Amino acid sequence: MGSPKIFVTQPALPPLEEFIPYLEKIWASKVLTNCGPFHHELEAALCSYLGVDHLALCTNGSIALLTALQTLRVTGEVITTPYSFVSTSHSLLWNNLNPVFVDIDPITLNLDPARIEEAITPNTTAIMPVHCYGTPCDVEGIQHIADIYGLKVIYDAAHAFGVRYKGESLLKHGDLSILSLHATKVFNTFEGGAIVCRDATVKERIGYLKNFGFANETTVTASGINGKMSEFNAALGMLQLKYIDAMLAKRRAIEAHYRQCLAGLEGIRLLQPVADTLGNASYFPIFVGEGYPLSRDGLYFQMREKNIWGRRYFYPLISSMPMYRKLPSSAPDNLPEAQKASDSVICLPIYPDLPMTKVERVCEAIRAPFAHAQ
Ligand SMILES: *Cc1c(COP(=O)(O)O)cnc(C)c1O
Repeated sequence: MGSPKIFVTQPALPPLEEFIPYLEKIWASKVLTNCGPFHHELEAALCSYLGVDHLALCTNGSIALLTALQTLRVTGEVITTPYSFVSTSHSLLWNNLNPVFVDIDPITLNLDPARIEEAITPNTTAIMPVHCYGTPCDVEGIQHIADIYGLKVIYDAAHAFGVRYKGESLLKHGDLSILSLHATKVFNTFEGGAIVCRDATVKERIGYLKNFGFANETTVTASGINGKMSEFNAALGMLQLKYIDAMLAKRRAIEAHYRQCLAGLEGIRLLQPVADTLGNASYFPIFVGEGYPLSRDGLYFQMREKNIWGRRYFYPLISSMPMYRKLPSSAPDNLPEAQKASDSVICLPIYPDLPMTKVERVCEAIRAPFAHAQ
């Protein structure tokens, strides 16, 4: 009943008829996977679009995370954030690594470099931060600590496709950055992922690891996985890339409209843009706090009654999930800022084809409780 549903996200799709010639090529060549022509073409095109030197496509972002950890032979303990999608920490468990959670900065919602140092032990070998909602981590601060202690840095950059920081790709930071090209992300190949790396030798190792460990016909160098992106997904990526700038422009316009409509609303905090950064408007989180007439969950469920489907990303915290909550670093008093963010956030609907009238309907739903409170 009432107004039509507004979802938190809706995948961006190119015109279907434009995909047919790509499919015809695949059918004619009968090369369906195993790093065929579209796979190579998309790797090169993404390097050029993003402004990075080397990139290896993968089946999805989660396999990219698993493979990134194996690429650098990470062992022991890895410092990471509890304020992320579960896949970040799961990739550590899949590699028999021990996650060590460190609290986030309340402004950026990213790992707080000031807290990393005290979590380092002789077993720490790497840091896995997340550019949450596409906001750049303090990449200089994190690299500084990594250099002092000889730690690897692997960024989960699943939210950060196309984000520019100080005039360059944000993905240039760290030893490796991983992308998700999942249907819900800014740039999608239905399912897909990638690892951005600094040199050709590392890319070669990733190539082995995502192909069962095969270095050539008869040599298996590692216990690799099947992590190759198929030609179908890679071809789709080539077509999506023609539209990415238009999609990003639409997202940024929606973000600007939200900011305008929600400006000055008591109890509603918005993420502040970071200096020297061109964001990708991948998410639009609001933080429901003191002065707002309803609790976060109160607003969340009231919006759902009006057919507006936000998401409480990221709630619950990874550290409170059954496979993590017994870790010493999962203790709630170790992670107060992450807990606060998790208890106050709602990600509002944002996707390229979201009409401005719907943005306004969402904002009205957020303003409505003030009228009733008076
Ligand atoms: C989406 C996402 C992933 C996982 O990517 P998939 O392609 O869905 O496997 C990992 N980390 C974060 C932060 C994500 O948002």
